[in-house]
Amino acid sequence: MKVIKTIAAMKRTRLKLPKLVGFVPTMGYLHEGHLELIRRAKAENPWTVASIFVNPRQFGPQEDYTSYPRNIPRDLAMLETVKTDIVFIPPTAEMYPPRYNTWVDIEKVTERLEGSIRPGHFRGVATVCTKLFNIVQPTKAYFGQKDAQQVIVIKRMVTDLNMNLEIIVAPTVREPDGLAMSSRNTYLKPDERQTAVVLYRALKLAQKLWSQGEQDVHRIRQAMTEMIKQEPLAEEITYISIADAKTLEELHKIEPPALVSLAVKIGRPRLIDNIILE
Ligand code: AMP
Repeated sequence: MKVIKTIAAMKRTRLKLPKLVGFVPTMGYLHEGHLELIRRAKAENPWTVASIFVNPRQFGPQEDYTSYPRNIPRDLAMLETVKTDIVFIPPTAEMYPPRYNTWVDIEKVTERLEGSIRPGHFRGVATVCTKLFNIVQPTKAYFGQKDAQQVIVIKRMVTDLNMNLEIIVAPTVREPDGLAMSSRNTYLKPDERQTAVVLYRALKLAQKLWSQGEQDVHRIRQAMTEMIKQEPLAEEITYISIADAKTLEELHKIEPPALVSLAVKIGRPRLIDNIILE
């Protein structure tokens, strides 16, 4: 496994690689969800590059940029286990040197859900992905369904800007009890960790009601809200959305494919999860 720590070295290395390269961008503090993306990339491409970069520009001023969990030696050991070919760890000062002034802004799909709560978040995500795509020049890049809106935004950007790569989406990897894996789960205290499974339980409830014939979004959302409110440690439901899976426009009546997504604050982190009804 080759570890590359400068943009110039990554570009030089890329020139020597064959055409087909799979790419898995991450913010590190890896878990099985990340490793699944790398296994998938390894299976579909002769070369796989993973990146670790906690992108300051996608965190709001009140968010957890400085405290976001980081452990590069642990990440490298995990990347070795899945035989990652190349790990790219760019320095923040190289990614955003003084006078850095260029941004990628995607409209509409960034205005809802996470975008409405985290102003500028998707501008930061789109900008860093564009930069990483330009440096690594992958033919396929792998993203997790866990961050459903991110996938929609990145696909929109790649289409709109005629970028030369394919975006592949892999299913959400979950803990045995159903909690979606996330680097931010490490913020949860033991009792909060127990509570956190309620996000998945609420999503499964939506799926069950729909499969029993319920189409009224209001009633499904109501049932999910009631389930979550029974949990004293689920402090605040930021949103429960049932939306068109492509446009993210809110639905009144379920028309598949519909994206059911939610964000709930439990202790310190605000957790997100989603499923698609189709
Ligand atoms: P992050 O390090 O959180 O920025 O995530 C890097 C990539 O891993 C993103 O494409 C995420 O959507 C994906 N990812 C994170 N958690 C999971 C999970 N539980 N299952 C599948 N993919 C995930």
